[in-house]
Amino acid sequence: MSHLKIAVDGPGGAGKSSVCKEVARRLNLLYIDTGALYRTVGLYIKRAGIDPEDREAVAAALPALSITVRAEQGRQIISLDGTPVGDEIRTQEISMYASRVSAIPAVRAKLLDYQRSFAEEYDVILDGRDIGTVIFPDAEVKIFLTASPEARAHRRYLELQAKGVDVTEEQVLAEMNERDRADSTRESAPLAAAPDAVLLDTSDLDFEGSIDAVISLIKARRYALSPEKAKKVKKQKRSYRFFYYTLGWIIRFFHRIKVTGRENIPRAGGGILCANHIAILDIFSIGASVPRPINFLAKRELFKIPILSSLIRSAGAIPLERKKTDLGAIRRSTELAANGNLVAIFPQGHRQPGKNPADTEYKSGAALVAYRSGVPIIPICIKMKGQKYRIFRKTEIIIGKPLSQEELGFVNGGSAEYRDAAAKVFNEICRLGNFERTLPAPEQENE
Ligand code: C5P
Repeated sequence: MSHLKIAVDGPGGAGKSSVCKEVARRLNLLYIDTGALYRTVGLYIKRAGIDPEDREAVAAALPALSITVRAEQGRQIISLDGTPVGDEIRTQEISMYASRVSAIPAVRAKLLDYQRSFAEEYDVILDGRDIGTVIFPDAEVKIFLTASPEARAHRRYLELQAKGVDVTEEQVLAEMNERDRADSTRESAPLAAAPDAVLLDTSDLDFEGSIDAVISLIKARRYALSPEKAKKVKKQKRSYRFFYYTLGWIIRFFHRIKVTGRENIPRAGGGILCANHIAILDIFSIGASVPRPINFLAKRELFKIPILSSLIRSAGAIPLERKKTDLGAIRRSTELAANGNLVAIFPQGHRQPGKNPADTEYKSGAALVAYRSGVPIIPICIKMKGQKYRIFRKTEIIIGKPLSQEELGFVNGGSAEYRDAAAKVFNEICRLGNFERTLPAPEQENE
């Protein structure tokens, strides 16, 4: 299987390395800071007493250069001639050496295959200046991360200050402008956004905001829909809207629906709606209460009933095999959510008429889909007298606030995180309807 390649390019101080490091940790990718490789070459040239402007002398020194990178507890350790370089490559002086030597084609050629080799074994995220243009023109995701020169200089200044380096913000800005100029005007692999890169300006984003933005770009690209699929989804939304406006009011009347928290439905972007389940008609009650098209997971059997089948299919329902883990349904839901759609999932799996939802079991598939697609979960409680469906019986649809990835407790994914997130969501559903558990909690399974 080929490995995922994510290219993040941009000028110095845009936050590339700190953002990529954290994104790599959360998505389980190998992170390579390619600037550090050029910095190490700069250090090598400085130690050898070579003028970084003397292209021939630099090129002649390259065969003896030995750089290795290894990951240790998620940290990238670079060694020059077998000895880790550490913070020595982070000084202003080495920044300028790196910028000078990186303009030399022989230096770039020396590091080219080395940078590519990481993607042979791992899913990678590389940051640099030419990753999306030269190193991985075929990268699945390309991001050009930038920020205003002032914002970048300010960040770099704080970073240097924290390390005890004595500089003024003006000096940092001047040095950064000079480096930007050199990096973007050089002949060999100048700093430029690949034509298919997504531009992300972080001037007004804080660290978490930048990470969220990068992760959602990666997820949307990772699960990108083919043009045919995207067209189909668009068509389904049109049919859905038709049903919403024609059938919606009939359903609202017969089910006597009272909706609270409609404002909690995000106006745009993907999301997973999770509700407790009483009757088949729950699907319609939720549909009539949420002012955006929804893709429902519906049991496969319903797709065998003539007329109903074509109706739900045309409105974008996703068939679900309930007896086993349905990977196709998970994949389809993830794709739709990652591409900005709402997907409704009943975590209980089956209808539970007449039962206090707080006393029932639930599954964690919805949490898995939310994690993979990087979207929030919106809890919804369906409340009826005795939790039993009767026509004309008042149905309360209580929509809770969206739970973000952070609130769901997602860090690296995995079944324990999905279980905890599912518990959080289900407790929230019960809390919205004032349901409390009456049965003793089930025995904790030994794992
Ligand atoms: O990103 P960082 O500031 O650590 O990079 C140091 C220098 O290395 C940059 O100013 C740039 O000249 C060079 N570089 C490059 N190509 C890369 C990464 C860094 O030319 N892929």
